[in-house]
Amino acid sequence: MDPGFDGDRTHGDGVAYARERDADDPLARFRDRFDVPGEIYLDGNSLGPISDAAERSLDRAVEEWRTLGIKGWTDAERPWFRYGESLGEDLAPLVGADPDEVVVANSTTVNIHTLIGTFLDAMEDRPPGILANELDFPTDHYAIRAQLRQRGYDPDDHFHLVESRDGRTIAEADVIDALEEREIGLVFMPSVLYRSGQLLDVERIAEAAHEHDALVGFDLAHSVGVVPHDLSSHGVDFAVWCSYKYLNAGPGAIAGLYVDERHHGKTPALSGWWGHEKETQFELRETYTPADSAGAWQIGTVPVMSAAPLAGALEIVHEAGIETIRAKSLALTSYLISLVDDKLADLQCSVATPRTPEERGGHVAITHPDAERVSKTLRDRGLVVDFRPPNVIRVCPAPLYTRFEDVWEFAEQLREILADREYESVETDDTVS
Ligand SMILES: *Cc1c(COP(=O)(O)O)cnc(C)c1O
Repeated sequence: MDPGFDGDRTHGDGVAYARERDADDPLARFRDRFDVPGEIYLDGNSLGPISDAAERSLDRAVEEWRTLGIKGWTDAERPWFRYGESLGEDLAPLVGADPDEVVVANSTTVNIHTLIGTFLDAMEDRPPGILANELDFPTDHYAIRAQLRQRGYDPDDHFHLVESRDGRTIAEADVIDALEEREIGLVFMPSVLYRSGQLLDVERIAEAAHEHDALVGFDLAHSVGVVPHDLSSHGVDFAVWCSYKYLNAGPGAIAGLYVDERHHGKTPALSGWWGHEKETQFELRETYTPADSAGAWQIGTVPVMSAAPLAGALEIVHEAGIETIRAKSLALTSYLISLVDDKLADLQCSVATPRTPEERGGHVAITHPDAERVSKTLRDRGLVVDFRPPNVIRVCPAPLYTRFEDVWEFAEQLREILADREYESVETDDTVS
């Protein structure tokens, strides 16, 4: 681990300690490269902010559209014809894959549709049972159920959920038990649970799935760009993620996907001409030949404008280094957890995120019985966090632009809001937070 993030240092209560950590932070210089909205932005796991590099790569695409027009497909600095593959190559090291195992395409939900569909079609002698968990982000379940239905399988019979023991986390042992007890052909799990921030053991789940002759896929939406991954060496069959959270590529930015090379050549469930073998794509043949790479899971024309910011956003992640990003992320979340324990536990706050660093993603869930109004009060004060029903305040100190002092300031202000019961006069409404 980076010496700048020695986890053993005991923290003082005061701001001096936070400032000392900031002074030692090897990533401190990256903060100036972002425009961070709000006083303190702790919501980078929902939507990361814009960076100078992302803005530049978007501007470049606009300029190439202006000056090159249709020639941009071949003559742009990063030719648009292979834009998805090219960004996939840049992303591959972040997930531990070979360049041709990763592509950017579509949205995360669409990628779940095409990949679940593809592997359901390819399961042959395996049972069509799919295993997920009850704490998943709902869109994953909507897509899986739809894919089962479209193949004539009743999701109520073929879609199984691992239950949580505590309402916050999923025990890997329970995933393994479910594999032993049921007919499962495919396991689909998140790397990090979106509410509690638990990081699951990808390697252990992948190994167990394969021992039971099941395929295994992961949704990395809440970990890509903040937790390093090793998909290839863990034998993961496929994965999906979005680029607008820790990768900071902008609202609705193009998503990413990984397909292990042993599955290249399979016919994607949602086939389209953009996933055709590139060399002959423009021959516009009647028959479809999938590209011999993850690129086959592209569908239609790459949306260059929603992909362009990712080029710059990835330069920043690589310059900082994913291992250093992870080290700082753990230092920030450990610090936040210790502040909640010390200053907020007597005000009905508790930490719902695992305390063991290896079991933690990039955000911390703080529970409070009046979490919705408390979150709103924080936002009114310029501290951007989000509320997740029923009682979670999600706090994400994203390492590229968050200071230790921001974490300290957050805890101070939260303490004030709770001690003065300031939140009690706040109105909540039903709008999305
Ligand atoms: C953010 C997120 C998504 C988002 O899907 P979109 O198709 O981009 O809207 C999907 N799954 C998980 C687990 C997420 O956290």
